[in-house]
Amino acid sequence: MKILVAVKRVVDYNVKIRINADGTDVATNGVKMGINPFDENAVEAALQLKEQDQANEIIAVSLGSSANQDVLRHALAMGVDRALLVETNSKLQPLAVAKLLKAVIAQEQPDLILLGKQAIDDDAGQAGQMLAALLNYPQATFASSLQLENNELLVTREVDGGTETLALSLPAVITADLRLNDPRFVKLPNLMMARKKTITTIPVADLGVDIESRLKLLKVAEPAPRKAGVMVSSVDELFQKLLDHEGV
Ligand code: AMP
Repeated sequence: MKILVAVKRVVDYNVKIRINADGTDVATNGVKMGINPFDENAVEAALQLKEQDQANEIIAVSLGSSANQDVLRHALAMGVDRALLVETNSKLQPLAVAKLLKAVIAQEQPDLILLGKQAIDDDAGQAGQMLAALLNYPQATFASSLQLENNELLVTREVDGGTETLALSLPAVITADLRLNDPRFVKLPNLMMARKKTITTIPVADLGVDIESRLKLLKVAEPAPRKAGVMVSSVDELFQKLLDHEGV
């Protein structure tokens, strides 16, 4: 079985997000970037299937500028076999991501496609669903466990008030939740070795896909600052404050 994993380069999850001076987007200049956390879970799931002899090749793909090589090297250091960079400096919305991935899938013909459940920068949570629709493949989103049995993929996903387990025929699209696994720690020697590996670059124009944006980002704003706390001198005063509070 061949697995394709999509990995996005996003602002590192430990970094406090700032907005650029003209309020048009999140500031990324000089900001630490890294692999989208849910995509790391997707890579880990692929590696575990390979370790169980249920997969023989894992390909990581990232769409974006040459800077995305760092997240591909991270995936190589974790253990994927090959890395593809679809190179573009255009800002990609989820539909464009889905269309580009579909074009890569037409070339690579993977049996399983793994994505993160959402990118932590745009929080869109759309690319996997759109990709499955474009390919007309079965999909299971927010996977918290997956298991391959007799050529069927059993996927457990969290739903309101419990979990549901789905059986999917392959090829299929799965999006990974954080609960799926604990991604392995990337050791320095593995990172050094990954630096020497080849990343295949595909210029976006070669895929012949319309990546034109369908919507315009009008503005980005910080949340309203938190109001200062109030000190109370007794429990009675606290109760009174709570009762007086708007909406109570
Ligand atoms: P989103 O719909 O933007 O929240 O993204 C969902 C998932 O799609 C991410 O977790 C990635 O697996 C994949 N994805 C989105 N953008 C990219 C990208 N530029 N390159 C590779 N994968 C991506």
